[in-house]
Amino acid sequence: MTARLLDGKAAAREIYERIAADVAARVAKGGSRPKLATVVVGDDPASAQYVRMKQANAKNVGIDSEDHHLPAATTTEQLLELVESLNRDESVSGILVQQPAPRHIDMTRVITALDPGKDVDGAHPFNAGMLALGFEGGIEPCTPAGIVALLERAGVPIEGANAVVVGRSNLVGKPTAFLLLRRHATVTICHTRTTDLASHSRSADILVAAAGKANLITKEMVKPGAAVIDVGTNWVNGKQVGDLGPGVADVAGWLTPNPGGVGPMTRAMLIKNTFEAEVRRTGG
Ligand code: NAP
Repeated sequence: MTARLLDGKAAAREIYERIAADVAARVAKGGSRPKLATVVVGDDPASAQYVRMKQANAKNVGIDSEDHHLPAATTTEQLLELVESLNRDESVSGILVQQPAPRHIDMTRVITALDPGKDVDGAHPFNAGMLALGFEGGIEPCTPAGIVALLERAGVPIEGANAVVVGRSNLVGKPTAFLLLRRHATVTICHTRTTDLASHSRSADILVAAAGKANLITKEMVKPGAAVIDVGTNWVNGKQVGDLGPGVADVAGWLTPNPGGVGPMTRAMLIKNTFEAEVRRTGG
């Protein structure tokens, strides 16, 4: 392997240390302690596990958390009632509705019902719109913000770089593209209807693989020296793998491990967003 590692665990640790100090200082001055409310619908073990990890991360920096685990048969209306009560709850700084939710849940209604100031995954159209328009002051989605933070921490040049994002979801692909565009990369977004994905990926100085398809990006599809971010989470024979095929580490200049790259940064950004949401909500 020749690529330099974009170490998500180390980068996340630095963020947690900063936030823990900020929370302690805030509480010592008599300020409110931030609280993260997580909502999981259904019995997906991965979702339950992600939420447990997010709560542990919150606790470790002094942020309170509460989990609302609803049965799979919960209706959209029932979920909306919970979201609205969390919106009104003065003790709650941020709300995360873990995705994917069961198919019968209308996530568009749920996301648009969130108080944009408590929307700590930056999914509400207000926050998404702020990002798309290049305005400051919205909440940035956790995974995309974590990706960009990893690139910046490593000093990967973004301005003027050719960035290719594989995936166009509202959660990952599109907001990652907008964050890179905001930093003056030239951005291409690829998806399942893209013809000749390899011709795009080979032009990328920064390649973000967020398709959720194991082995989608082979080493032949990577420009030598590129920064490659492996977002995908796939399970192959009980083992977590990303979207990259074997040998990419020998071609890339920088690479995120998977696991240990984007995942830890996603959670760190959630904790950061929760702290900042509380600071904004309380006026300081
Ligand atoms: P998603 O909603 O399923 O979107 C996947 C995107 O990839 C779609 O836009 C799809 O194109 C595109 N795609 C799929 N197969 C492709 C192919 N063969 N060629 C080109 N494009 C392809 O998933 P997501 O929520 O964006 O998440 C993407 C992956 O990242 C998943 O594996 C997810 O588990 C993982 N993830 C990881 C973290 C983390 O913290 N590590 C966080 C979030 C997500 P179409 O739009 O044309 O269908």
